[in-house]
Amino acid sequence: DAAGIDAGGTLVKIAYVKDGVRRLRKFRSDRLAEAADWLRKELPDAPLCLTGGKGAKLAALIGRETDMMPEFEATCAGIRLLLPPALGGSAFLLANVGTGTSVHVIDGERNLRIGGTGLGGGTIVGLARLLTGLDKYEAIVAAAAKGDRGTADLKVRHIYEGLEPPIDGDLTASNFGRVLPGAVIGSGEDGSISREDALASVIGMVGEAVATLCVHAAAAHGVKTVVYIGSSFNGNAPLRQAVESYTRFRGGEPHFVENGEFSGALGALLRL
Ligand code: ATP
Ligand code: MG
Repeated sequence: DAAGIDAGGTLVKIAYVKDGVRRLRKFRSDRLAEAADWLRKELPDAPLCLTGGKGAKLAALIGRETDMMPEFEATCAGIRLLLPPALGGSAFLLANVGTGTSVHVIDGERNLRIGGTGLGGGTIVGLARLLTGLDKYEAIVAAAAKGDRGTADLKVRHIYEGLEPPIDGDLTASNFGRVLPGAVIGSGEDGSISREDALASVIGMVGEAVATLCVHAAAAHGVKTVVYIGSSFNGNAPLRQAVESYTRFRGGEPHFVENGEFSGALGALLRL
């Protein structure tokens, strides 16, 4: 038995082997004690390797000797286990959209962190709470999925109003740029903006910003493929859609990896 554990800013991801079977599991990072209790009970004697920003804090709660490894190393090692064979061969960009976003170039055995942005899944949740009062991730995403980005977002063609724009008129000119003076979140009638529409635009903004950063970074490093991972894509079809279409639109080739958010945990497990 053994377990690799990636304790991130929002979620703890665990990849473990018990009785010869590999399994995956998640806990909330604001309830680290639950993860620690589960590990002590379920894997009392197994070697553990931890990574992620909250790894040391979780290790202290587990209260036995554990290994530790750097987060970026773990993520870049673990992703190799999850990639479809067709992608394994050549260099690609890896974007881990977690609470925040971290971007890496992976080329064979080499990997390099090339940047990141504070825009990520945490931004979606935080802005959603402020704008709508919805607190739960599932509720936020469900509402956003019903929304229309056309209400708040300004496209290039809106500014050019029928004239031939110098760039694709469907590009977003300004996220939230259509919101008029005095606008509030409300029913969507009488100039108010519905929470659904506002949330759709929040997710669109994060998705486009992440995709834009990635496409530029990919171009700078001479790669086209962008592999997106992170729990931010879980159950969040609007984010996936925004990132996918904007990456393509800008000339990149997006891929979403099933269970990709467990890359760090799998990388840590590999270390044992
Ligand atoms: P980081 O790597 O930045 O330290 P993390 O590893 O905790 O953070 P992930 O688990 O990859 O990050 O993704 C966290 C994001 O996933 C949240 O910000 C939220 O948008 C989304 N998410 C998906 N499922 C949930 C959930 N059940 N509860 C809260 N957030 C969720
Ligand atoms: Mg993470």
